[in-house]
Amino acid sequence: MISLVRFEKSVANSILSSALDTYPRETILLMRGKAERDEILINDLVIPPLARHGLGFSGFPNIMLPLDLKVMGVSHSHPSGILRPSIQDLNHFYGKIMVIAAYPFQSYEDLGAFNSHGDKLQHRIVPDHDDLENR
Ligand SMILES: [Zn+2]
Repeated sequence: MISLVRFEKSVANSILSSALDTYPRETILLMRGKAERDEILINDLVIPPLARHGLGFSGFPNIMLPLDLKVMGVSHSHPSGILRPSIQDLNHFYGKIMVIAAYPFQSYEDLGAFNSHGDKLQHRIVPDHDDLENR
């Protein structure tokens, strides 16, 4: 069970700025990093292949997802400002966590990390190139 999600600072900033740049459309990003015990570190972002930026769910065909063990989950934005996953989001859950950036995308509190049940997880911003092993 994942209980804590750490974001490298530049990654958290990129999720927020990408959401702002794409507003009022949704943005979607694959999050790479590593899992250790009950923690996940997100330290890299990838634009998914054939991402569809629409007004609704930023879906993309699961078949297009790369087979990449470092992908911890998917981040997408909620221009609505609602900081929780929709039923549809949970039906499209991929990986270990889902991250939502909610309008107005101004602070780290506009980010939420969730497990596949939709439970909100604790998240923390850490310096870039920090490492779980160094704790
Ligand atoms: Zn959503």
